[in-house]
Amino acid sequence: KTEETLLEVNNIEVIYNHVILVLKGVSLSVPKGGITALLGGNGAGKTTTLKSISGLLASERGEITKGSIQYRGKSMQDLSPNELVKSGVIQVMEGRHCFEHLTVEENLMTGAYTRSSAEAKQGLDMVYEYFPRLKERRKSQAGYTSGGEQQMCAIGRALMARPETILLDEPSMGLAPQLVEEIFGIVKSLNEKEGVSFLLAEQNTNVALRYAHYGYILESGRVVMDGPAADLRENPDVKEFYLGVS
Ligand code: ATP
Repeated sequence: KTEETLLEVNNIEVIYNHVILVLKGVSLSVPKGGITALLGGNGAGKTTTLKSISGLLASERGEITKGSIQYRGKSMQDLSPNELVKSGVIQVMEGRHCFEHLTVEENLMTGAYTRSSAEAKQGLDMVYEYFPRLKERRKSQAGYTSGGEQQMCAIGRALMARPETILLDEPSMGLAPQLVEEIFGIVKSLNEKEGVSFLLAEQNTNVALRYAHYGYILESGRVVMDGPAADLRENPDVKEFYLGVS
């Protein structure tokens, strides 16, 4: 095996409010240059897994009580969210989170706070190349753009920090099928052309397994199955329980 592992989640257990055990020993790895899907239904623990990685658990009274998380062989648990961004990992939260009162371009610029102004300018050019819609809407107040445009804006803002890995939470949520395909298509070209690695949490198994290289299926805080996306798509249990065909 020659592929380089970027992110390694090793048997983590996560508890909210000191009592609610949500992750019961989750392990996964994200290789450099891959799109890795984290699948499972509502409440399976996908968002909790992403937040464990990006250091956002503490603000929700969540705690990793067992296991470890490493990025490029270094422990991530002691890093602040800011240090994490510098190390190359950034999370795009579920539900889009753009600043509604800023324009699209101002939103994008907030993502460049770790970069010089020349780098920010380059970043904008890159984002507009992949998201021509954002270029068209750059002077619009983000709160008045469509759901799809806000999702694009959130991904674009993350790209402004020039991350090596993006943790993308439920990009398909609330979007029409055609837009979902558009956004996944852009994720795919960012992966192929810019070399960005993705860990993608999705309830939409069908779409995710068409674009991802590898998938993990979570049920009630445990990984119940994992494998190359092509194998998962053909697996009879996955077909029956997650793809709605049998
Ligand atoms: P969704 O698609 O709904 O986001 P998910 O797979 O991402 O689902 P999580 O959001 O990680 O699942 O939630 C997993 C479980 O943890 C759920 O039962 C949820 O109720 C619980 N949970 C999430 N956040 C908290 C919190 N801050 N405090 C207590 N319980 C929480």
